[in-house]
Amino acid sequence: MTLAHQTVTSFIDGAFIPARGPALDVVNPADESLAGTLHEADAAEVAAAVDSAEKAFRTGSWPGLSVAERKQVFRRIADVVRDNLDELAALETAATGQPIRYSRFIQLPRILANFEFYAEWPSYALETAASERGRGLRYVLREPLGPVALISPSNAPTALASTKIAAALAFGNTCVVKTSENTPLALARFVELLHMAGVPDGVVNMVNGRGDVTGDAMVRHPAIRAVSFTGGTATARHIAAAAGAGLKRIDLELGGKSANIVMPSADLDRALDAALIAVFTNSGQQCFAGSRLVLHRAIAEDFLGRFAERAEAIRVGHPYDEAAENGPLAHANSYARVERMVAEAREDGCAILAGGARADGFDKGYYFRPTVVRAPSNDVRICQEEVFGPVAAAIVVDSMEEAIAVANRSRYGLVSYVWTNDLAEAMRATESIEAGWIHVNTPMLALDPRFPFGGYKESGVGRDGAPAARQFFTEEKTINYALGGVDLPKVGIQGNQ
Ligand code: NAD
Repeated sequence: MTLAHQTVTSFIDGAFIPARGPALDVVNPADESLAGTLHEADAAEVAAAVDSAEKAFRTGSWPGLSVAERKQVFRRIADVVRDNLDELAALETAATGQPIRYSRFIQLPRILANFEFYAEWPSYALETAASERGRGLRYVLREPLGPVALISPSNAPTALASTKIAAALAFGNTCVVKTSENTPLALARFVELLHMAGVPDGVVNMVNGRGDVTGDAMVRHPAIRAVSFTGGTATARHIAAAAGAGLKRIDLELGGKSANIVMPSADLDRALDAALIAVFTNSGQQCFAGSRLVLHRAIAEDFLGRFAERAEAIRVGHPYDEAAENGPLAHANSYARVERMVAEAREDGCAILAGGARADGFDKGYYFRPTVVRAPSNDVRICQEEVFGPVAAAIVVDSMEEAIAVANRSRYGLVSYVWTNDLAEAMRATESIEAGWIHVNTPMLALDPRFPFGGYKESGVGRDGAPAARQFFTEEKTINYALGGVDLPKVGIQGNQ
């Protein structure tokens, strides 16, 4: 399938604006052709988008809609997106290179799930009140913040932006959204669909461009009240510094180097299937990739042999090839990073058990073979740095205690996977591992918005998930009513002791 060349401009106050800023290429990673052109938003254009969000917040209908009215809009969004999933998937795949089946049936349906969930959830989220008979009543009013900045990454540009948009809007905020400048196509169409579904003009504005130009202007704009960011840890340091200068709220969902621990008592066939999914899905471009395989010595040789054999057999293909299990990496820079990190792994004494090089059969495109390395220790670079590509690093240990220590010897702490049928061992691991979400005997198959998702240490600040999102996207105001009856001290009356 070939897609017409796309032109993306900022979407402000309900419409795409005419092309204005510098033109950036949107490259199709499958063949390095030009999938589109993005016109970068500078600080002035970002300011126009924030003004639109501010006006919609101050004078528009959205913050004051009833829960039931917002629910109707969210349901219409889910319907409109469902009707347009094929087009959204084609656009997402053209810029990210992820297999079309993955875009269409796994990643983009998350948009529906988000809006369907947030259509209902606010109806059940009640506030706190306390009464003291005859004396008073205190209760909490929860208010939207105002215009917020939402920034999503290149590996799930629209799905992750939709999580943020749904959560911000569910509590009455307005927003300016941006995804990666390399993968802007599907989000642009999605923002248009939001308006077709009845989101009022100005409530969702979209800008795009390089992070240090457009993203930085979003974060620094004085009217932006909070920044919800998903992306890399290095980028998050810039965002935290810029947001800190304006004392803005931040939610940072960042990278990982998650341990996947396999113990002898586990169902090893299932653990093998899951370990492959955990690290190689979407060519390893997942924050929650189980990219450190921590294997008990008793099963390590056999498990690793089978793992490497299956990794070699993963079909790397063009994203539109229905048989392809993995596509290319999303960008030339991603490919260069993976190549560099595999070279460093070799220098650090790792054995390459599978892959380790460009995938055969492609003249163009960013295709890298699923790669398995056996690391001499957890301290080498491939075990400490996020690759964000199809590379698993295996480490052999002699006990669960050692596995836990390895899992925790990392600056990251996003997710962990534990495979064991020994209950006490599982409980020790879940208690001791420093990670925001621990899966026992399962890979991560879906996010559950009822539960917190986020990272320890350099994997994040704050949590995704509805309860945390409600806290993040609202101000709480405590109201205190006296019903009389409390004696007040009388100051300023002469002679009064
Ligand atoms: P990235 O950090 O390079 O970019 C993410 C976004 O930030 C992009 O939209 C980019 O334009 C923007 N940006 C860059 N510099 C900025 C700045 N100075 N100010 C404001 N915005 C700026 O990340 P990426 O390569 O797009 O995505 C991969 C990373 O995202 C990985 O580290 C991955 O682990 C992480 N990720 C985390 C989660 C999670 O939920 N924890 C989910 C998906 C991806």
